[in-house]
Amino acid sequence: MAKMELGAVIAAAQRVADSTVAAEARVVDREGRWPEASLKELQRELGGLVVDERLGGLGHGLSAVARVGEIIGRQCASTSICFGMHLVASAVMGAKATVRQEQEFLRPIAAGEHLSTLALSEPGTGSEFWLPQCRMQSDGDTLRVTGTKSFVTNATHADSYVINLVRAATPAAAGSFSVAVLDAATPGLQWGPAWHGFGMRGNDSRALQMHDVPLDASRLLGEEGDEIWYVFNVVAPFFLMAMAGTYLGVATAALETGREHLKRRRHTHSGRQLSTHPVLQHRLGTLWATVERTRRLLYFAAEEAESAGPAALLALCSAKAEVAQTVDTVTNEVMTLAGGIGYGTDSDLHRYLRDGRAAHVMSPTTDILRTWVGRALLDEPLLED
Ligand SMILES: Cc1cc2nc3c(=O)[nH]c(=O)nc-3n(C[C@H](O)[C@H](O)[C@H](O)COP(=O)(O)OP(=O)(O)OC[C@H]3O[C@@H](n4cnc5c(N)ncnc54)[C@H](O)[C@@H]3O)c2cc1C
Repeated sequence: MAKMELGAVIAAAQRVADSTVAAEARVVDREGRWPEASLKELQRELGGLVVDERLGGLGHGLSAVARVGEIIGRQCASTSICFGMHLVASAVMGAKATVRQEQEFLRPIAAGEHLSTLALSEPGTGSEFWLPQCRMQSDGDTLRVTGTKSFVTNATHADSYVINLVRAATPAAAGSFSVAVLDAATPGLQWGPAWHGFGMRGNDSRALQMHDVPLDASRLLGEEGDEIWYVFNVVAPFFLMAMAGTYLGVATAALETGREHLKRRRHTHSGRQLSTHPVLQHRLGTLWATVERTRRLLYFAAEEAESAGPAALLALCSAKAEVAQTVDTVTNEVMTLAGGIGYGTDSDLHRYLRDGRAAHVMSPTTDILRTWVGRALLDEPLLED
């Protein structure tokens, strides 16, 4: 991939969003189908978005991830999360990659030939994904992994999974874990049933069971015990920007749906359009400001983190929390503005509302993020002992 400026990245994302992603969005939701055509095109155009230029990637960071997430999310949140998880996984791999990992993973990702994803969550520890119970045991040069990952987006479609795990003999204390890349071709991976979410129905977010599956030691990322470094320096920033971008896109789409409805709907007895009611004008104006101030916080957070500014952590965490609140508010408020017509027909608004409800529960959840911000402001440790 040749170097692209941010403007060209945004234009490329917009092209794919307006064509393939928009064309697939409804059927992806209706049939719970993984957005294959969109992912193929996104991989081809922007698959190496966060991979180093030296390895053939585009060398972009958090701002590009947020902007691409927003553009794709405006058309289809499922597609945006599927691609976003690939970007986060690529960033995690690239942070401390060995030459071998560069050859095996990052160059193919940059060439648009390898799709990855993040598999951190587990059924036991749920939202506290930084405390894995998946265990690895040494067996000569190979490690053996046992445990279950939950909600793995891109499940059976990815070529690799970025996982976190702990040595079998190590007590589960924060900081003693490792991060690794697991090949999709690894023998013994067992996938749970197909994903049937309330929203995000194209994600294919399945559970993955591993019992004594082999993991070559060369697939460990960084040093053993680096997991918390990865969580706060790579996973959280990239994940938060990918999520926040996606759900800001959903909120923007819902706002536009509300605006169009008010302009279109006219009562026959009075001949009056809904757009002429002051209370509805006021409500729409308030929603616009809610979306726009959240967008400003999101862009600021990405830029602040890229320049290692002092408010980076506060802004990154708050941006995703604010976006979650915004998409929740806007989709629900627009549902009211759209009346029984919006409630009763199979409109895109239904999808926005269902997809948007995932924003709070994608961990770090809204409450966890607010608490981290409070703790950081009070000079308290972010994670409890
Ligand atoms: C559509 C979708 C896609 C996903 N994709 C991925 C993926 O690709 N990779 C991945 O690793 N994970 C993924 N996840 C998992 C997600 O990030 C969470 O880990 C998961 O939703 C936790 O679910 P749970 O029922 O175990 O939550 P629980 O841990 O049981 O929590 C339930 C609720 O309790 C509250 N809560 C829990 N812990 C705390 C705490 N410490 N402080 C304050 N409140 C708390 C929160 O409100 C939370 O929503 C996905 C989830 C969804 C819904």
